[in-house]
Amino acid sequence: MHIDIITCLPRLIESPFKDSILKRAQAKGLASVNLIDLREYAEGKHKSVDDYAFGGGAGMVLMIEPIDRCISDLKSKRAYDEIIYMSPDGDLFTQAIANELSLKQNLILLCGHYKGVDERVREHLVTREISIGNYVLSGGELAAAVVTDAVIRLIPGVLSDETSALTDSFQDGLVAPPVFTRPADYKGWKVPEVLLSGDHARIDQWKQEKALERTQKRRPELLL
Ligand code: SAH
Repeated sequence: MHIDIITCLPRLIESPFKDSILKRAQAKGLASVNLIDLREYAEGKHKSVDDYAFGGGAGMVLMIEPIDRCISDLKSKRAYDEIIYMSPDGDLFTQAIANELSLKQNLILLCGHYKGVDERVREHLVTREISIGNYVLSGGELAAAVVTDAVIRLIPGVLSDETSALTDSFQDGLVAPPVFTRPADYKGWKVPEVLLSGDHARIDQWKQEKALERTQKRRPELLL
């Protein structure tokens, strides 16, 4: 899978891809993430990518021209499954959308900034819009990093067996059961005895029960 992230502030999201699981996924050749500086597609002495909003009002708007030039350039090199604009009013990002995107080959994630992008970008250039929640960030970069992380870790081979995504919350319609590690007794706070029993059938049943119990308590809407 290849993900191109278009941003006017690439430095904002360099680090999440340089460590841990996302770094390993790239090293193994299972995923590649490319940060594209929108300013490279800007024209004029000042290389501006934004301008004042027509009709007035506070806040700058990202212009359509550099975005169009950038997307056209990328499309001349690859066929994209989706061109996604990160937007607070987009489809709410869920594990189901992460699963769906993890099956794609090539994605573009477009990050807005300031007041957002010229509406014509949304009308004519993007295929989909995703929000990471009902709150407003100052730019799409952190949202793009969230989506990229959630998607890449689902690609087969990215996670090792013991951290398999299949046992994580939402993957089977339940949240994850609690997990414990050594010591088995810390200040008298004990790990449930069943987890130390070595009886895998009992352990699996316990995990299933706890996942259900926790889902009922914390995310009852998943069970509807
Ligand atoms: N004026 C816009 C907000 C712009 S915030 C509005 O009121 O809807 C600036 C940029 O941050 C947006 O263009 C978008 O790319 C990104 N952004 C902000 N909140 C986001 C969220 N919850 N999910 C995804 N992207 C978000």
